[in-house]
Amino acid sequence: MNRLGWTILLLVLLAGGAFFLMLSPGSAPSPDATAETAAGSAVAEPAELWRADPSGFVIPVAGVAPAQLVDTWGQSRAGGDRAHQAIDIMAPLGTAVVAARSGEVEKLFDSAAGGHTIYIRTPDGGYVDYYAHLDGYAAGLREGQVVQQGQTIATVGSTGNASPEGPHLHFEVKRMAPGDRWHEGEPLNPYPLLAGTRGGS
Ligand SMILES: [Zn+2]
Repeated sequence: MNRLGWTILLLVLLAGGAFFLMLSPGSAPSPDATAETAAGSAVAEPAELWRADPSGFVIPVAGVAPAQLVDTWGQSRAGGDRAHQAIDIMAPLGTAVVAARSGEVEKLFDSAAGGHTIYIRTPDGGYVDYYAHLDGYAAGLREGQVVQQGQTIATVGSTGNASPEGPHLHFEVKRMAPGDRWHEGEPLNPYPLLAGTRGGS
C-alpha cells in the first residue's frame, strides 16, 4: 500500500475509534452490535472502550467493562505498611492501556515499585492520572505530549513489584494542589469514577 493508502486506513481507524466512544455515553453499548460490525471486516476492530457516567472517565484498559472492575482501594499492600490508594485492573499482558482523560504527559518514570509508569496532567492542571506496571509505552510517547482521551498510551504488564502471574494496570487519580509536582498530590478512589452509576442498583 502506498502512503495515501496508509493515511486513509489510519483515518478510517481513527473514525472508528471516535464512533465507539460516542456509542458509550454512560449507558452500556451492546457488545452484540460490535460483533456485528466486526463480521465480514478484514480490519481488526479496536477493542471496546467504556466511558463512565457521570465522571466522563474512560476505563483505561481496552475491553474492560464497568462490571469487571473491582474496588481495590484501601487494600493492604507491602505487608500492611500502607493502604492501596488506587485501582488495580486485571488484564492479559499486552492489552492496550488508553488515556482515561485527555491531558499532557508530564512524566515517564521507571521505579522499583511501579515499573514503567506514566503521569498525565489534566489541562486545568488540577489532577494527575498515574498508570503503572506497564509492559511498554506506545510508540513515540514522550514527555510534553498531549494525548486525547481513549488514545492508546501503553500496554498492560507486570513491571515493578507486580506479580508476573497477574499482569494489571495500577491506576491512580491524584488531586494536585497549586505547585504540586508529578509525584505529589492527594489520591482519590478511582473506582466510582470508572464504574459510574449504571451498576449502582
Ligand atoms: Zn495497585
